[in-house]
Amino acid sequence: MNTFSIAIHGGAGTLVKGMMTPEKEIEYRSALKNALDGGYQVLENGGTAVDAVEEAVKRLEDSYLFNAGKGSVFTAAETHEMDASIMDGESLNAGAVSLISGIKNPVSLARDVMDKSEHVFLAGDGAMEFAKNNNHAIEDSAYFYDEFRHKQWIEIKDTDSFQLDHAKKKDSKFGTVGAVACDQKGTIAAATSTGGMTNKKFGRVGDSPMIGAGNYANNETCAISCTGSGEYFIRGVVAYDVACLIEHKEMSLAAAATEVISKRVLKLGGDGGLIAINANGEISMPFNTEGMYRASKSSNGEEVVSIYK
Ligand code: ASP
Repeated sequence: MNTFSIAIHGGAGTLVKGMMTPEKEIEYRSALKNALDGGYQVLENGGTAVDAVEEAVKRLEDSYLFNAGKGSVFTAAETHEMDASIMDGESLNAGAVSLISGIKNPVSLARDVMDKSEHVFLAGDGAMEFAKNNNHAIEDSAYFYDEFRHKQWIEIKDTDSFQLDHAKKKDSKFGTVGAVACDQKGTIAAATSTGGMTNKKFGRVGDSPMIGAGNYANNETCAISCTGSGEYFIRGVVAYDVACLIEHKEMSLAAAATEVISKRVLKLGGDGGLIAINANGEISMPFNTEGMYRASKSSNGEEVVSIYK
């Protein structure tokens, strides 16, 4: 049997130790552990990597702590616009959604785009119509309301260069969530889900739903889920770049992932991190920020739940 394993993230950023209360830290760690265990259980029961990453990401989306699903940040119009994607490393099938609102679990909608449509990427009203046709749970705005997120928005709502600020001030936290998994058969998968950036407008879309940028999976190389300043991750085609270094330069998973995050993304000016897995169940979780909410678990007995460097 193949070594099976899973890794998850809840976003990277300037997570300075001491700025978080011990109670909050316990809450974050237990939310990460809950998502990790949910995904791992799928793998342990012989389930597929795609099922495992969907389960883990759903659990993160259901937590108010992370910027995805329930905890999504506010847009400039005081609404929520969510993006998500999922990819199967065996078939290279993929599904993605963008600019959707009210959907409880965007990752499951992306999964349905992959499994039940002829397409890869649906956005906006069309994606919402597809969601209704496929009976996805819709929640009202009260479900997505969080006082802390609302305060974050109030602070910058009258500015419009929020994205630049975000990158410049280096005091930002990216709460996007993601999971990568390798199942008992050695198939890998990746899923990513986000509310994007606070105060975003003009239909701004980040890297998270873009196959190759924020999310990618191919059994031959790796499965990747990213978090960070999306514009840079799009321009760096980050997830696919890691796969390219493995395929064309024959780099190890850890060397390729670190090269992209610590050198290439930094050179562009971007900050963030990623989680990576390969078909041997190996895991790498590099980031170039102060911290990244992350966790991993493998059938060889290794388990990690971590926030800071
Ligand atoms: N990458 C996400 C975006 O740009 C943000 C994040 O990682 O939290 O939409």
